[in-house]
Amino acid sequence: MFQRIYVEKKIRKHRRVLEIISKLPNLPLVEIENYGEIFFRKGQDFLLQKKFPSLVLSKKEGERVQKMPDFCPAPLKEKYYFSHVLGCLMDCEYCFLRGALPSANVVVFINYEDFFQDLPAGKAFVSTAFENDSLSMENLLGFVKVAVDYANKFPEKTIELRTKMANADSLPESPPSNLILSFSMSDESAWKKHEAGTASPERRLLCAAKMKQRGWKIAFHFDPLFDDSLPMRTIKKFHNLLADESQDFVSTNCYREKKFRGQKEKVFLGVRGAPLSYFTVGRLRMSSDFRKKARRISSLNLSLKF
Ligand code: SF4
Repeated sequence: MFQRIYVEKKIRKHRRVLEIISKLPNLPLVEIENYGEIFFRKGQDFLLQKKFPSLVLSKKEGERVQKMPDFCPAPLKEKYYFSHVLGCLMDCEYCFLRGALPSANVVVFINYEDFFQDLPAGKAFVSTAFENDSLSMENLLGFVKVAVDYANKFPEKTIELRTKMANADSLPESPPSNLILSFSMSDESAWKKHEAGTASPERRLLCAAKMKQRGWKIAFHFDPLFDDSLPMRTIKKFHNLLADESQDFVSTNCYREKKFRGQKEKVFLGVRGAPLSYFTVGRLRMSSDFRKKARRISSLNLSLKF
C-alpha cells in the first residue's frame, strides 16, 4: 500500500502513531519536523506518487473545521466538513483532489478528537470524508470508533462517513443513528472507465444492504457522473436482499428517473424514501483552476473528458 512513512517528531510517541506504525512494520520510517516538508514540496510527480504513495503522519493545528460550500448537497442547511485525512488510495480520474492537493501522498492528522471538538454547537451535518474515503484505510486508522463516541455524545449532529469501497466488516454493529454510512454511486460503465481501485457499484450496493442489516443508517450520493443507468440486475439483486417484510428500505417496483438540464445522464433510483437517510444527486464539482491542474496531471491517460 505505502512505500514509506513520514512522521512528525513531535508525535512520534503518540499512542495512535505507534498503533499505525505497528500495522506497517516493514516500511521505512522517516522523522520530519512538519508534514508540509513532504506534502508541499516542489516538483512532485502526482501520477508516480499515486502508484507509490507515502503515508505522512501529522498533528493538525490551527483551523480544522470548515463550512461546506453551498453547492455541495447535504441533508441539513447547516453543514461543515473537516479533513483528518488528505488524499486517497483510489484513483478516480475526475477526483477534485487531483486539482486541489499538491501531492498524492496521503496525510493523516492523528488528533481526530480535536476535529470533532472544534465543531460549532447546535444541529448540523458534518462530512468527515471531504478529501478522502472513509473506508479505504479504516483498518489502519481506527477513526470510526472516535466518530461513534462523538455521535453518541452529540445526537444533534449528523456525522457522515462516505465511501466508494465495500469493506465495512470492521465497522461496529448498531452505531448511533446520527452516524451515517454513505456510498458514492456510479454506474458500471463509469466505474470501469474512471474509478480505478474502487469497489464495483454492485459491491457497494451489497455492502450497503449488509450494513443496513447490521443497524447502520445508509445514504447514497449519485454523483458526480453517470454514463447510463445502474444495471437492472444490480438493482434487482439489491431489492432481493432488502425487500422482505422486515425491511422497508426499498420498494421493488419504484424506479425514478431524473433528467438534469444540460446533462445527458439519467439516474434510475431503485431506492425510495425513509428509512434511507438521504440521497443526493450531484454534478462534477471542480473549480476552473483545479480542473486545469487535473487535466494536466491526467493528460497521458485521461478517458473522461471534462
Ligand atoms: S474515492 Fe473519492 S476521494 Fe478517492 S479518488 Fe475517488 S473521488 Fe477521489
